[in-house]
Amino acid sequence: MMVKLAQTAGFCMGVRRAVDKVLHMARSSGSGPIYTYGELIHNPPTVELLKRRGIIPIESLDDIDRGTVVVRAHGISPREREKLKEKNITLVDATCPKVARVQAIIKKHVSMGYNVVIVGNADHPEVRGLLGYAEPGGIVVADVEDVDRLPELEKVCVVAQTTRNRRHYEEVCSRMKERFPEVLVFNTICDSTERRQAEVLGMTGEVDVMIIVGGRNSSNTKELLDISRRSGTPTFQVETAEELRDINLDKAARVGVSAGASTPNWITDSVVDYLTLYRGKEGNFLMNALVRLWLFAIRTDIYSAVGAGILSSVSMILQGRPLSLINILIAAFYVYSMHTFNRIQDRYLGRIQGSFRDETYLKHKKIYLWASVISLALALLLSLAAGKGVFFFLMLMSLAGYLYRFRMFPLGLPLKSLRDIPGSKNIFIALGWAVVAALIPPLAEGDYPGITAVLSFVIVFTLVFMKSIISDMVTVQSDQLVGRETFPVVMGERNSGKLVRWLSMALGLFIVAVGATGLMPPIILSLLTVVFYVWICLELCDKRAKFSSTALEGFFGTTYIVAGAAVFAGTLVARLLNR
Ligand code: SF4
Repeated sequence: MMVKLAQTAGFCMGVRRAVDKVLHMARSSGSGPIYTYGELIHNPPTVELLKRRGIIPIESLDDIDRGTVVVRAHGISPREREKLKEKNITLVDATCPKVARVQAIIKKHVSMGYNVVIVGNADHPEVRGLLGYAEPGGIVVADVEDVDRLPELEKVCVVAQTTRNRRHYEEVCSRMKERFPEVLVFNTICDSTERRQAEVLGMTGEVDVMIIVGGRNSSNTKELLDISRRSGTPTFQVETAEELRDINLDKAARVGVSAGASTPNWITDSVVDYLTLYRGKEGNFLMNALVRLWLFAIRTDIYSAVGAGILSSVSMILQGRPLSLINILIAAFYVYSMHTFNRIQDRYLGRIQGSFRDETYLKHKKIYLWASVISLALALLLSLAAGKGVFFFLMLMSLAGYLYRFRMFPLGLPLKSLRDIPGSKNIFIALGWAVVAALIPPLAEGDYPGITAVLSFVIVFTLVFMKSIISDMVTVQSDQLVGRETFPVVMGERNSGKLVRWLSMALGLFIVAVGATGLMPPIILSLLTVVFYVWICLELCDKRAKFSSTALEGFFGTTYIVAGAAVFAGTLVARLLNR
């Protein structure tokens, strides 16, 4: 089965802005509950998660007497604003600028004596807010029939609910122009909505089935559903990937996926993953099997273990040491054990419904725990074979890995364990990888880590650190939501991207400088390929909507495979040239 994900799927600018604002407040304030006037996102599990972070939705302003109220992207009426002021409640305005523009158009034309007609759903919070600006002469119409029922009006200003369908809006406006002498029409349909709808319409011609992901109470999701169904393409709406189990897609060779403006991307990702992993019965068997194997390896961290093994061999080559399978396996088993253990012990595990790894780890927690223990045991056994020094060193490393999440700071401090240090996850992952990949090879040969080991350490650390940040840039939305403080959460996504760019340039210069000094073999220059690959990963990160997060994680994890391939290919070429 070929799965095509719409580029426009997921949070629109307005929803993203409101969610970012609220989560930023939750991170920085810590001063009592934050209320949102209505649910911030049309997604019940996410709303539950927000409640755990102290972000509570209220349906009426009478429900509270103090605190902070965040106005969500849909906006509110002037009367409601007034009410908040009277109650002395702090207002944080996250009204989408595009909705604010419609409010301003209405306000201006009411003052000029126009009657305002809003084309939309009268029960939708955005329309209720707009109607508040249109008082006393505001009217809501849903369709052409409603226009025929309107009383005679002199001057009419027409605006649309921002998520309305354009064709439908134009039909209503033409009927308005036929009926009334002076009609001023404003195109207030949000361009992001239009692009999303146009993409869905375009996709319907290319796929056998469309899946629209989004809340059943989400108006723009309903519009997408209608557009797709009207095109004649069989279309299903799901709120979670679980619901796909009840849909028979056996005959669909190509499935299109799009999502409403308030659908979190991890839910859309889980839908794409489900379709890719479990429904792929059509198409090239071998290709499908390989893709599934690749995705399985990514979800279960086996791909990370392979990456660690490859970096260990890259280090050995750069340090001019013979390749040792034992060292490679030690790195792979150690990294697998640490990653798996820390994931199943993650306090946030399972909080995000649809998170691509959480599902796998939650479902088979015991198996993963055992896999982690067995992996560590194997790493330690192999390290015994490599020498006592390696064994004790790995014991210390394992202890450090497990201590990462245990309480070690005195009571009363805001930090309980190392994992509470913002950004620590990215640094400790890179440190762990760099130590096993770069320092174990010299220890296994009974040497003290010299300059080449230190140089390899720097290279491995930087590569893993960059990859870890890029991965977290993709999951920044869900990490923010659960309260995980990764680099992208702390620094912001854009700054993290800049940091990775600077680091990749610094790594490029470092590689050239080390190559020029002759401290390492010239083969080190082949690693410049990885610097370019990191830039490709950053581009992929920008265009993330095209891929599910599992696939993106796979592309990022391939950084290590690119490093290995470059160094091995370089070694082969060098040998051929030296013959
Ligand atoms: S759909 Fe458009 S108008 Fe509505 S919140 Fe999103 S960006 Fe703003």
